[in-house]
Amino acid sequence: MRVDVLTLFPDMFDGVFSASILGKARDKGLVELNTVNFRDYANNKHNTVDDYPYGGGGGMVLKAEPIFSAVEALTGSLAGGSKPRIILMCPQGEPFSQRKAEELSKEEHLIFICGHYEGYDERIREHLVTDELSIGDYVLTGGELPAMVVIDSVVRLRPGVLGNETSAVTDSFSTGLLEYPHYTRPVQFREWEVPEILVSGHHANIEQWRRRQAIWRTWQKRPELLEHVELTAKEKQWLEEQKRQS
Ligand code: SAM
Repeated sequence: MRVDVLTLFPDMFDGVFSASILGKARDKGLVELNTVNFRDYANNKHNTVDDYPYGGGGGMVLKAEPIFSAVEALTGSLAGGSKPRIILMCPQGEPFSQRKAEELSKEEHLIFICGHYEGYDERIREHLVTDELSIGDYVLTGGELPAMVVIDSVVRLRPGVLGNETSAVTDSFSTGLLEYPHYTRPVQFREWEVPEILVSGHHANIEQWRRRQAIWRTWQKRPELLEHVELTAKEKQWLEEQKRQS
């Protein structure tokens, strides 16, 4: 997979792209991560990439030309037929989700555009991008942190990136549920013990316990998620029982 990020602050990506899972994926050749400073594509002598908004009002607006030129420089060099997803980071975009991360992880080339100031010239949104993504209902200063969030969650789903292939499969949201609780050694820490079932060695019972814990935790913390999860009749009955008891 290849990921290009159009940004005015490429240095912000140095640490994130070279550490932890992203750094390892890059070292193993599983992902190519590049930054492009779209100021290099400004077509004026002061290299400005923003301008005053038509109609007045506060704030500056990112100009269309440098961003179109930077994207076209990237896509122009591609072999015919290869169409990258061009993703605008934007608080007004589609709310980012694990489903979207799974969808994007199947692509071979992603281009992210990081905004700043008041936002973008609308023609970028209308005529250049394929997706607009928001990481939540709040406003950040720029699109760099949101792009890092999306890139991390997408790249970790690529085959070979996580050491343990199954760990992403059981992650919260991948199953539609929040993930079950985890414990590690020691069995007893202070006066708190690991649930007995987890040290029983009985795999079928452990699976059932984990599934039920995931259902219970989801009901407690994010009950709306359960509307999209198919529970067996037995699980529904168990959940009703738990609700009554609590
Ligand atoms: N004036 C814009 C609005 O009200 O929609 C907000 C602009 S914000 C200060 C500057 C840039 O930060 C945006 O263009 C976008 O790239 C990025 N950004 C801020 N919050 C974001 C969010 N929640 N999700 C994705 N990108 C965000």
